[in-house]
Amino acid sequence: MTAYEDALSALLEAIRPLPSAEIPLTQAVGRYLSAQAVSRIDLPPFDNSAMDGYAVRASDTLSPGVSLRIRGEIPAGTASAIPVLPGECLRIFTGAPLPPGADSVVMQEDTRPDGTGGIQVLEPVRPWENVRFRGEDVRSGASLLPVGTRVGPPQLALLLAAGLDRIQVHRQPSVAIASTGDELVPPGQSLGVGQIHDTNAASLAALLSGEGAQTRILPVIRDDLGSAARALEEALSRSDMVVTAGGASVGERDVIRAAFEKIGGRIQFWRIAIRPGKPFFFGQLDGRYLLGLPGNPVSALVTAVLLVLPALRRIQGSLDPAPRSFPAILAEPLSNSGGRRHFVRVTLSREGLVRRSGIQASHLLSSLALADGLADVPAGVELPAGASIRFLPW
Ligand code: AMP
Ligand code: MG
Repeated sequence: MTAYEDALSALLEAIRPLPSAEIPLTQAVGRYLSAQAVSRIDLPPFDNSAMDGYAVRASDTLSPGVSLRIRGEIPAGTASAIPVLPGECLRIFTGAPLPPGADSVVMQEDTRPDGTGGIQVLEPVRPWENVRFRGEDVRSGASLLPVGTRVGPPQLALLLAAGLDRIQVHRQPSVAIASTGDELVPPGQSLGVGQIHDTNAASLAALLSGEGAQTRILPVIRDDLGSAARALEEALSRSDMVVTAGGASVGERDVIRAAFEKIGGRIQFWRIAIRPGKPFFFGQLDGRYLLGLPGNPVSALVTAVLLVLPALRRIQGSLDPAPRSFPAILAEPLSNSGGRRHFVRVTLSREGLVRRSGIQASHLLSSLALADGLADVPAGVELPAGASIRFLPW
């Protein structure tokens, strides 16, 4: 059995990011940069006012109540060539360029009309107060975001501000997903004797689409070597990655690994020292990847979070694809007497307290559906309430 960290490293090392393409920036949300994004302009592009107020010379405002003559007005989106001379000011609005001669902005709230068409300044300003400087955020030619950054709404805001309209990102991976098992019936169909609904394909597709994959659900693979081999061959020829669920364990009817080897696939590791999810395997064939998940829906989702999502982030160019976890506090004792690291389904309260979401057997879906994520419990520990634990959100 492979330790989880070793399995994760081997997986991430094996997977090569997909080729890149230049695409419109507004379509890049969720994708990873394959080239550094560089600004072609200073940000902000010009010195401008941080306030609605009056552009002044700070030295004019030292005596409280001083009167200044208004020489004009600068709304945002315009500029004024009128210089601010001693004893004068210009009405200015947030984001408008600072006029020549001015070195600061008095906010409107610190002024009042002086009764002769000018203003009285009630509070002195310091030089450069309420001024936003050209280039203080980003200089022209400087890096906006490094290679491997995922473009989310905040990154999009920065790139848009810098005037970029196209950007280099890694291609989106196409991922085929197949459930396996003679007992499975597609959702919505009624159950015959011994049958159950296929819950893995659609829930995995939802999870993987959320991480940027273009997913395709394949027909259920039957527990038969020949048909499994044909299905895998077809799926691998048309996808960057194939994810199967079920048939990965030790029973004679668990044929997925054998089927993969039959078509020339090489299995890099099988079985991980975690609970749930032990039978997970990973293999490669001609630069395509097969991630074989266990069939129990809990095991399938847990291994998807622990291994498939990092693989997806990696193939899209992430430089830091491992799952995120953070410390939380146990609200109740939690022990793991087994020999494998246990990823326990838990809730997380607003106060940061972690509790089991229900009974933990890997075929029980209620505790899965109630959980906010997983608590990472090392093998052979007995943790008291109040102990710190790593929490992985879904
Ligand atoms: P397996 O990994 O194929 O041995 O399956 C382990 C358990 O998970 C068995 O009880 C299967 O019936 C169940 N199972 C496998 N695949 C699915 C699926 N797609 N949806 C729901 N249950 C499944
Ligand atoms: Mg099965």
